Amino acid sequence: MGNTGSVQTIRLSRSNVGEEEIEALSRVIRAGFLGMGTEVQSFEQEIKAYLATDLEVICVNTGTAALHLSLECLDIGVGDEVLVPSITYLASFQAIAASGATPVACDVTTDRVFVDLEDAQRRITSRTKAIMPVHYASDSTQMADVYEFAKRHGLRVIEDAAHAFGCKRDGKKIGVVGDILCFSFDGIKNITSGEGGAVITGDLELARRIRDARLLGVEKDTEKRYTGQRSWVFDVHHQGYRYHMSNLMAAIGREQLKKIARFAEHRRAAAKRYRRMLSGRSDISLLSLSEDDIVPHIFVIRVTNGRREEIMQRLRAAGIESGMHYQPNHLLSYFSQGHALPIAEMLMNQLLSLPLHSMLTTEEQNRVIDILNHP
Ligand SMILES: *Cc1c(COP(=O)(O)O)cnc(C)c1O
Repeated sequence: MGNTGSVQTIRLSRSNVGEEEIEALSRVIRAGFLGMGTEVQSFEQEIKAYLATDLEVICVNTGTAALHLSLECLDIGVGDEVLVPSITYLASFQAIAASGATPVACDVTTDRVFVDLEDAQRRITSRTKAIMPVHYASDSTQMADVYEFAKRHGLRVIEDAAHAFGCKRDGKKIGVVGDILCFSFDGIKNITSGEGGAVITGDLELARRIRDARLLGVEKDTEKRYTGQRSWVFDVHHQGYRYHMSNLMAAIGREQLKKIARFAEHRRAAAKRYRRMLSGRSDISLLSLSEDDIVPHIFVIRVTNGRREEIMQRLRAAGIESGMHYQPNHLLSYFSQGHALPIAEMLMNQLLSLPLHSMLTTEEQNRVIDILNHP
């Protein structure tokens, strides 16, 4: 890992796992039941307790599966359309496409890279069934507007909250209010279960469908597995998938959940530090969000003087990884619908993500800032 010389590579993002996760995995391996069982049930209960919610929590094997199952179990599919910001991880688009529905790419706002509801309004048709807002860079300041918009147009809301585990809005934890919300626990997210994800919803019928659908659509298989039994005789009414979470994954997730406060504090402090050191510059714009209520998953700046590529190259030369979250999806061949999205296409050349994770040191941050200060 890193260079063999004196200076270590500064990672853009990384998992923060240790002895506790190794111990937990060993415990599950020794117990000998690796698939979906009581460990997953415990993780679901602990997420519920952490969020302090009565809503349903359903763990699955990826955030993408959480999004896909949400759509599928709402019976959104072929012939339907789902509004989604163009600037998001490819997973949002592929999850919609997997359901058979068409992802309709919407423009985003310049200051927060959040779905632009004026643009979304223009793309509504009689086939529009849902909107999938993304908690970009963990921010969801404008989510209430999305719900108001959805209500006006009779749409379901599936929140892609992959960046937002541990965040709050208006003093409430993300996940305790809303229609359907999907988290990701992939290796570099705010907490990880190796890979993994979860759906949170208060819609009991939908939750029941998702619980079955993650296990090939076998009715009430979850309840059986949580009591150590298996289903030999059953019925199936819907399409299902092998999207359940395993005990191995849940064991990692449960240890990570115990560490969330520490991870949150570290990420928040690091993001605030970047913000302090980079504010007031004419060549760099920061997203208009406050780190106080969020657990920042990524730290994104906008390089507004046309030198983004050059900066990325200089960072790379100094052993510092950087990234671009994300290339607009409406420009991909598979998802192109022929419409231009001017803000997304402008941001494509400006967005730059700086290293941010729960092990980043201030010395490493200083090295990053140094490169940005001496063009
Ligand atoms: C990570 C991520 C996902 C998908 O989660 P996986 O667990 O990797 O499948 C979806 N949307 C966004 C915005 C993400 O960052």
